[in-house]
Amino acid sequence: MKTQQAPDAILARFREVTQLPGVGKYRTEVLHGIGIHTVEDLLYYFPRRYLDRSTIVPMTRLDEHIDKTVTVIGRVTGIVTLGRGRKRLVVTLRDLVGSMDLVFFQGLQYWQKAFTQDETLAVSGVVAMYGRRPNMVHPSIDRLQDEETLEFINTGGIVPVYPSGAELERVGLNRHHGFRRLMHTALQHGLEGIVDPFASDDGAALRARQSLVPLRDAVLHIHRPPSLEQLEQARRRLVFDEFFALLLGIALQRRARAATERGISFRSESPSARALVSSLPFDLTASQRRVLREIAADMARPEPMNRLLQGDVGSGKTVVALLSMLVAVDNGYQCALMVPTEVLAEQHFRTIRALLGNTPVPVCLRVGQQAAAARASIDAAIASGEAAIVVGTHALIEDAVSFNRLGLAVIDEQHRFGVMQRAALRHKGLMPDVLVMSATPIPRTLTMTLYGELDVSVIDELPAGRKNIQTAIRFEEDRAKVHEFIRAEATRGRQAYIVFPLVTESEKIDLKAASTEHARLSSEVFREFSVELLHGQMQAREKEAVMNRFKSGRTQILVSTTVIEVGVDVPNATVMLIEHAERFGLAQLHQLRGRIGRGTEQGYCILMTDRAMLYGSAPNDEERAARSNARRRLETLRDTLDGFRIAEEDFAIRGPGDLWGTAQSGFPPLRIADLLRDGDLLRAARDEAFALVARDPHLRDPAHALLRDMYGARLRLAADASETA
Ligand code: ADP
Ligand code: MG
Repeated sequence: MKTQQAPDAILARFREVTQLPGVGKYRTEVLHGIGIHTVEDLLYYFPRRYLDRSTIVPMTRLDEHIDKTVTVIGRVTGIVTLGRGRKRLVVTLRDLVGSMDLVFFQGLQYWQKAFTQDETLAVSGVVAMYGRRPNMVHPSIDRLQDEETLEFINTGGIVPVYPSGAELERVGLNRHHGFRRLMHTALQHGLEGIVDPFASDDGAALRARQSLVPLRDAVLHIHRPPSLEQLEQARRRLVFDEFFALLLGIALQRRARAATERGISFRSESPSARALVSSLPFDLTASQRRVLREIAADMARPEPMNRLLQGDVGSGKTVVALLSMLVAVDNGYQCALMVPTEVLAEQHFRTIRALLGNTPVPVCLRVGQQAAAARASIDAAIASGEAAIVVGTHALIEDAVSFNRLGLAVIDEQHRFGVMQRAALRHKGLMPDVLVMSATPIPRTLTMTLYGELDVSVIDELPAGRKNIQTAIRFEEDRAKVHEFIRAEATRGRQAYIVFPLVTESEKIDLKAASTEHARLSSEVFREFSVELLHGQMQAREKEAVMNRFKSGRTQILVSTTVIEVGVDVPNATVMLIEHAERFGLAQLHQLRGRIGRGTEQGYCILMTDRAMLYGSAPNDEERAARSNARRRLETLRDTLDGFRIAEEDFAIRGPGDLWGTAQSGFPPLRIADLLRDGDLLRAARDEAFALVARDPHLRDPAHALLRDMYGARLRLAADASETA
């Protein structure tokens, strides 16, 4: 097959940006500072947004857009500071038909200097009416130069706006005009040097399948869109490429690992597992049975298993993990179950011991707080291989713990562990199988990228007979009623959790809130019941005792910090009261709510918050955004029980940036793709990348040389992976 290899001399990725006309020493320095070294880097510096003539609203029609975000273009005709005490800056803007005000409360010193009489601005913000006069509070501003304003207004073009900053402005690269001119030069001199990796027959077929425009068109149109439609086409192509590069890397890595790593090939036949299934007080759900088959099949393969087991809170992952461990045990191997907290380790240990009842499988618990002597004898049992199933916290990865024959490592609530800790547990064995479990539902798009190296099994149903949980938002003035409700439930023999958030960085201070409240609740409000306190700073033994009393029903009300967030399983508990609910993240709230509704009784989740926090007016934009996000979180939780919907909403509110430790996981930043919006393209790119690697595992086909070079260079993954293969 022919490849369209362009001569190196003109490849944009080999051309220094400093070789472009108009880019001197200073600009080069500043461009290097933002990671632009080559002409290709520059061409891949995409506009932050676009001004589109067709979306611009004339000022006389602003009253039709109240509370909506719109863009207007106008000339500055007045700049005044008003008010005594709390001052505000009012900038009057006029277009051909009317006028309006821009209002600033914050950062007056900066804004007072930011405007010049008669300059032309494109302004985007939320429209409000002050009497009959439209205004926008703290809008975002783009300054337009006269010539381009004319061009823009006359031609109705779509104008790109580039990300900018003080440094760039200093060298004349403001976010529109200066940058646009530079980009124009780059396109003139560099576009020919952009080589389409999908230019071979193969690539053309892929492009046709996925309806992708040629790369050069995409790069040109993302910077100079002739129409909104072509802009969208350009974006599609670039998003696809970005995902494809990422997933090609993942596909090559997985392929390489499968080819080199020899793990354990377990016999699936397991008498202990079969015995356990028949002794369970319930039938496994169809989902549980399906994921067990997937896991068993994977364990039977000679390559090490690397699997993520996802299942909403209460879906019954523990028993699936235990059955998988029994397969390994019957093959003569040891298993480790690592969990994030001692409370949870303790609980799993007890559950497992109870389930295994009178079978001879030895189970032990290994946590940090055990007495030295006990620890030494447990470590000896682990080292000799006598301990078949070891349940523990990250204490399991301490040097002192060494397994004789670790065959399967299970990690529960895996999002609480870092990549390194997972790797450390794996290295306690010789290529053991690894099963990581997560109750935090993760949007499919994220699992595909973030956890692309894992196979995924999903438990997508809850055991039958679970009552829906009712969720309500309540305020301070409802407190007496809320307490009455808890009293009624406790009187009926049910139990309740009352949870306090991590308010400050210091656990000591947080504890004070929980313990003061515990004192009040136990001595005044719920005097007739047993009310206990649980927090992270208690000794393991105390924690265990408190949990046991709650589990056995001797304690009716458990006041707690978030130590009970994950995993805790007390089916008789029906009420979850969350104090300062607005301070919790959505995933965390969902986890907390998952502590109830685990039995056959109706569960109730009460989100206690401050009415003003949620619905009051905010003093500034930042606070307003924070409150509206908090409201969205609580209302989402109130309105749905579906973990996957909650995860997607969480994702939408927070953005992928700080989600599930994406930063620490080495997840490459996406320049243009949006994991939420572009899910379909991600799936398409994944299918194409995996199919390609299946056909040509080392990208040796000359038709794939460009892919190997370009994506390999961008990701530095492909080359490594195919070397090790
Ligand atoms: P999670 O997936 O959140 O870790 P658990 O494994 O703690 O959930 O299970 C929640 C509860 O459901 C436990 O009390 C467990 O015994 C019970 N359970 C698990 N599977 C089933 C089933 N198939 N039918 C009924 N109850 C089940
Ligand atoms: Mg669990």
